Amino acid sequence: MTSRSPAAQEYHKLYRTAIWKQLRKAQLAREPLCHLCSEVGSVTAADTVDHVKPHRGDQALFFDPANLASLCASCHSRHKQREENGRKIVRYGADGYPI
Ligand SMILES: [Zn+2]
Repeated sequence: MTSRSPAAQEYHKLYRTAIWKQLRKAQLAREPLCHLCSEVGSVTAADTVDHVKPHRGDQALFFDPANLASLCASCHSRHKQREENGRKIVRYGADGYPI
């Protein structure tokens, strides 16, 4: 926590808003299984809601229901690590195009 930048601390507050808590609950109800696990054919209950496009404090992205994906804890930490390592994450949609 102490290593977070002031900007990160600022957007971390977004996770404590009532709107986020509701969005998160709605997302998990809509998509109860981990989105990354299901791409590789395994079924894992999701317990984390992730932003597909990193919001970096942008409230429009943060609160956009279309920008959310349900993840299990292990996919979530893997995903975050990759992001922090600065590698670009390319995902493909059902139509085969990167999203
Ligand atoms: Zn998963």
